[in-house]
Amino acid sequence: MATLKILVVDDEPGIRSGVTRILRNFKVDYPFMDEMYDFEITEAATGEEAIEQIDREQPDIVLLDNKLPGIQGVTVLEDIRNKKYDIFVVMITSYASLELAIKVTHDGAVDFIPKPFTPQELKSSLETITKQIYLKRMARKMKHEGKQIRFQFLSVLSHELKAPLNAVEGYLNMVKERQLGTNLNDYNDLIDRSLKRLHGMRNLILDLLDLTKIESGVPSQRPINTDLVEIARNAIDTMMPFAIQKEVTVNLDAPEKLVLMFDADEIEIIFNNLISNAIKYNHQGGTVDITLQHDDHQTMISVKDTGIGISQEDQERLFKDFVRIKNTQTKNITGSGLGLSIVKKVVELNQGRITVESQPGQGSTFNVWLPAPQAKDGKPLSATSTTTSQS
Ligand code: ADP
Repeated sequence: MATLKILVVDDEPGIRSGVTRILRNFKVDYPFMDEMYDFEITEAATGEEAIEQIDREQPDIVLLDNKLPGIQGVTVLEDIRNKKYDIFVVMITSYASLELAIKVTHDGAVDFIPKPFTPQELKSSLETITKQIYLKRMARKMKHEGKQIRFQFLSVLSHELKAPLNAVEGYLNMVKERQLGTNLNDYNDLIDRSLKRLHGMRNLILDLLDLTKIESGVPSQRPINTDLVEIARNAIDTMMPFAIQKEVTVNLDAPEKLVLMFDADEIEIIFNNLISNAIKYNHQGGTVDITLQHDDHQTMISVKDTGIGISQEDQERLFKDFVRIKNTQTKNITGSGLGLSIVKKVVELNQGRITVESQPGQGSTFNVWLPAPQAKDGKPLSATSTTTSQS
């Protein structure tokens, strides 16, 4: 439960106590709000008293009578506006002229309740204002979180780029100073290490390029007739050197062709990342099974490995930017922690979804469902698809 502070400013004690009574057990709740709002009421009998209380308490809402004994309600309103307080002001007044209504609206009053008013009129005005306050607060929070996330992203990124640069610079200096003597062969290890760091750096930059492309939004999507099976085969071919190194067998169970309207680059991102992870996080001599299935409504891509697996707790965070699971089994495996977050963004851009099932020590299965792209007449936009399976 959240509480909004209301200040009732009126010289008639009957109005002040009436408002307090009406709002005592009043609560505002909308389905989209994550909590209910109630109200804490304070009272002021004059404009001077109101200004003092506003300075001290900073209420969220002021219910303000215009006809007051000393300074008028409009002056209180002007004072709130001049001090740039974030307060919603509702004018409550009898004999309101059009000029007054225009002036107070111009000065920032959000509503106008003519006296005498019914409890319902007061409540519905407060319901609207509470909704506005809630949305304003949410917007502010999201903006703030967005800034924080961007900052975190940049600091992790600069660290990830700086570390390999420093390492390669260090190795090159060692070569320059001939620290290991004049025999070039003695530097092989340094050269290999440098190449490995540069390779990691290149992958990070490629991931970042994918990410910027995706973050820039839907207009960059170029759906064309794309053979998903061909893309899967190309991804397997690209990863084959790593699979051979780890003696991992890669099987593909798919139709001969599966041509659908998709952005080919995006499908490539999905296959490349899931297959390379399935090899990278596999055991020596393990297996990767890639399956592609399709019906009129959707395409399912499944990448199953017999690798190190992922705990339930880690499964929940692994689709976020820069998340890498650190344990003894992953400590020598390089990566940016961006691959799966990019895959998830691509899948969601295509109105699909991705899930992971995994048992530590036994392996993981990543499943992607993509809805079949629809033509304008509502029919799925697929082309040739036969059902031979190959591995
Ligand atoms: P990375 O570049 O680190 O591989 P990803 O975003 O692709 O980044 O994956 C995030 C983390 O999820 C990885 O660091 C790894 O710990 C874990 N992970 C991803 N795929 C698998 C898999 N198939 N098996 C086990 N762990 C995996």
